[in-house]
Amino acid sequence: MLEAAFADIDWPSHERSVNTFKDGPHIFLVKFLHGWLPVGKLVSRYDPVKYPSACPSCDEPSEKSKHVLTCPNPECRKWHAALKTSIWHRCESVDTDPALLDLLLWGLNHWLQGTPIPTHRVPERVAHLLHSQTTIGWDNFLLGRWSKHWTTLQLQYLQRDHIEVKNKNHGLSWSSNIIRLMWDHCYKEW
Ligand SMILES: [Zn+2]
Repeated sequence: MLEAAFADIDWPSHERSVNTFKDGPHIFLVKFLHGWLPVGKLVSRYDPVKYPSACPSCDEPSEKSKHVLTCPNPECRKWHAALKTSIWHRCESVDTDPALLDLLLWGLNHWLQGTPIPTHRVPERVAHLLHSQTTIGWDNFLLGRWSKHWTTLQLQYLQRDHIEVKNKNHGLSWSSNIIRLMWDHCYKEW
């Protein structure tokens, strides 16, 4: 990752999310964040006969951790739909800026489908956020490495639209709430 992209990551939101993801799921999380989960490519190194490296659900010859979440098989597509619906409900419940919600679902959708993110066709107000998160990577978005601009824009939205600023609808509580929801889904999918 570029140094500038690294510096643009909202590390406090990431840390808050990690610290509240406890017990069994925490072991999953550590492996998930470091790319150590036992996927085909990794386990086949120990015994390629017993553990083939290919994806068991499609034609992918070398199953990497990204592939487990982006596999085109129908079960995985169902999981994508459930993840997006769940994020949508959660974001609505914490007064999320509709422009941020659109961008979030749109970016995530492109990453899950493996299609490139068009950089035009987003409102001017969120263009720098899109650039920043795309530089950091949308895979990193799912790993809770969010651009700093997400929380900044969310607070600006609340203030501009005169929505009461509460603990849950801005800052670390807001971002870590959504990040943990994504991780819960990834944990269940695994
Ligand atoms: Zn597959």
